[in-house]
Formats: sequence, C-alpha cells, structure tokens
Amino acid sequence: MYYPYVVAGAGLAGLTVAERIAAEKNEKVLVVEKRAHIGGNVYDSYNEDGILIHNYGPHIFHTNDREVYEYLGCFTKWDDFWHRVLTQVDGNLIPMPITLETLNQLYNLSMTPREMKEFIAARAVPMEEIKTSRDVALSKVGEEIYQKFFENYTKKQWGVDPADIDTSVISRIPLRFNRDTRYFTDKYQGMPHGGYTKMCEAMVQNTNIKILLNTDFNEIRDVVDYGTLIYTGPADEYFCYKHGKLAYRSVDFVMETYDCESFQDAPVVNYPNDFDYTRITEFKKLTGQQHKKTTIMKEFPKAEGEPYYPFPTADCKAQFALYQKEMEKEKNVHFLGRLAEYRYYNMDAVVRSALDLYRDKLC
Ligand code: FAD
Ligand code: UDP
Repeated sequence: MYYPYVVAGAGLAGLTVAERIAAEKNEKVLVVEKRAHIGGNVYDSYNEDGILIHNYGPHIFHTNDREVYEYLGCFTKWDDFWHRVLTQVDGNLIPMPITLETLNQLYNLSMTPREMKEFIAARAVPMEEIKTSRDVALSKVGEEIYQKFFENYTKKQWGVDPADIDTSVISRIPLRFNRDTRYFTDKYQGMPHGGYTKMCEAMVQNTNIKILLNTDFNEIRDVVDYGTLIYTGPADEYFCYKHGKLAYRSVDFVMETYDCESFQDAPVVNYPNDFDYTRITEFKKLTGQQHKKTTIMKEFPKAEGEPYYPFPTADCKAQFALYQKEMEKEKNVHFLGRLAEYRYYNMDAVVRSALDLYRDKLC
C-alpha cells in the first residue's frame, strides 16, 4: 500500500506534522505508533479510581510562543493553571525555584529584593567560563545553596555529578530576586481542558490520517511504500545502532492512591536530599479534578528502560553528531522530536519544531 507520507511515532511531534499534512496539504498520512495509544509522553488517562493521571510524568504546558499556543488552542480549550513547586530542604517545604520567598523561609530572614541580591552576591562563585551545570549553579547561588537544592537532585535525576552534564540542564531553573514563586513565568500557561489525550485525539480527527497502533515502525518499514517519512523515534534505533547506543535517561513512574482528598500542599514536591525518588506529583492539583480520593506519582530515575530524556553530556552529543551525519544522507526522511533530534525539548518547542519542519520542508 502506498502513502505519500508516513509518520513514525504518535507523540506531539508526529501528531502536529500529521495534522498539518492532512489538513493543509489535504494528503493522506499514515501514523505508526508502537504503543497502544497516541500522545507519546503527554498521554493521560483515568485510572481505576476515576482520577485523571499523566501516565508518563507531570506535564505542564507553558510557552512564550503565541503561534504554538494558538495552534494547540484549535484542539483544546485551556484551563488556567500556574504551576507551583515546593522542595524539601532541611526539613522545610519551601518554594522552588529559588526566589526571595525561598531564601527568607530557609534562613528565617525577611530580606528585601536588594538585600537578597547582596546575600547572593556574597556567595556566588566568580567563574571565567561556565562549562557545566555545576558551574551554572555555583556561579549563580554559591556552594551552600547549590548543595541544598541542586547537587543531589541532579545526581538522582541523571545518575552523574552536575559537573559532568552540560549547562543546559540546571540553566532550566531560574533564580528570582522577587516573590514570584510560579515555577514558570511564560506568558501562556495552562492545562488542556479534559486532558492531553483529548487534545491529541482532536488533532487526528481528519479522515486523511490513518493511525496504526501497537506497531513498531521497524516491523513495517520494508512493507509500506511511502513518499516521505517523518521519523520521531530514537535516532540510534533508526540506524540500527551503527554508532553505538545513545544514552537516554529513563524513569520508573510509581503511582499510589490514597483515601483522602489531599496528599500534599502543591502539585509537585521535590525531594533533592531525601529518598530515591526525585519528586512527587499529585495529579488532582494539576488538573483541578474534584474527587474524594487522590493519586500521586513518585519518579525514580534510572539508566535503562523507556527513553525519556536525551543525556546531556559532551560525549553523548558527539556520538549523536555521528547520527546527524547519517540523517543528512537519508533521502525523503525528516527526523523530528525529542528522541530523533536528541534534544531536551519541552512540549511547546516540539510543536514549534514540527510546525517549522512542515512550513520549511513539507508544504
Ligand atoms: P514522544 O512523546 O516521546 O513521542 C514519540 C513517540 O514515538 C512515542 O509515542 C513512542 O512510543 C513512539 N515511537 C518511538 N519509536 C517508535 C518506533 N520505532 N515505531 C513506532 N513508534 C515509535 N514538557 C513540557 O513542556 N512541560 C512539562 O511539564 C513536561 N514534563 C515532562 C515530564 C517528563 C517525565 C518527561 C519525560 C517529559 C516532559 N516534558 C514536558 C517533555 C514532553 O514530554 C516532550 O517535549 C514531548 O512529549 C515530546 O514529544 P515527541 O513527539 O518528540 O516525543
Ligand atoms: N533541578 C534540581 N533541583 C530541583 C529541580 C531541578 O537540581 O529541585 C535540576 C535537575 O538537574 C533537573 C533540572 O534542574 O534535571 C531541570 O529541572 P526541571 O524541573 O526542568 O526537570 P524536568 O521537569 O524536565 O524533569
């Protein structure tokens, strides 16, 4: 059977590009997904108690990209949501990222923003060159705050010292000299009304889109005839690991349901220094669902397993560059998304990348 377009992977990257091809080009597109559902890692579902959970970890949509926000807004209404995170340090639950509130609560002070600047300036470690995530944190906040908030969390999350991973990781966390304790300050933030799966289902309503679930692209790559392939699976897998296996960080997501309305004081609580898990998410506090029970998720990072995070080291990037060279040689194949581009993309950046690919190369 011939399809002008085949998309491997039904995550946000694959669905966005499939939607554009089907709706704007009015062409047929086959989406092949190895899991039993669409949505990739943004997939959410109702558990046996009827609580809406994010099966692959907490997903909060936030962006400054108006076009992306409006594009996804064609498929969902947005419920207002401003994400907040608490972190357990020295036995206290205090706001994360580090703000004036965080330091005042941690040190039992009542600093003003100007006093916080002086406090931080006295501790930040001057550096000529910022080369690693450790450098990022030390140069911003100094040794003690680094140790309390970042060092152990990062070791747990990545399995290596922050000195061994690149700057992009800890740079994701801002330092604020004010009382704004929101986790993100992007202009557009929200939760898709009814959930991410519902939004993804709306993206693939077009009859030009055919979806094949429970099917690994590798099973059909020699059987299906196509004009153009958009591949969103792992880069190394596509090339049969010819330059070795790329490291991706994985996570065990462990759910627990409690017979009480509320488990914790914030949607997410981080545990940098205690326990083997990094954080606990309480889903009702993300979705706003009312229910007499509550479900939480603990995240236990691990090396092997389903690939979730591209590994942020210079060696891994160099290894990925070998695959990029192979990609350039492929005819009529585009590599897109967190796994194929080996990038620590947020949802909005993945959708942006897919819209750009469509506009620049496919339409
Ligand atoms: P994926 O969602 O990984 O989709 C790829 C799809 O391809 C998967 O369904 C996979 O099964 C399929 N596939 C792979 N190989 C094959 C194959 N050979 N054949 C067929 N199918 C295949 N972003 C935010 O903006 N905010 C957040 O709060 C946030 N939280 C996150 C929390 C966690 C724990 C994780 C892991 C990610 C989080 N993200 C968040 C990032 C977000 O999940 C990604 O940006 C987005 O899902 C990437 O979409 P994608 O399509 O590139 O990849
Ligand atoms: N991080 C940390 N302490 C925290 C939260 C985050 O050290 O309390 C570091 C850690 O290395 C993590 C990175 O900052 O991997 C990015 O955090 P983010 O919350 O963006 O992680 P994600 O939601 O992508 O897992």
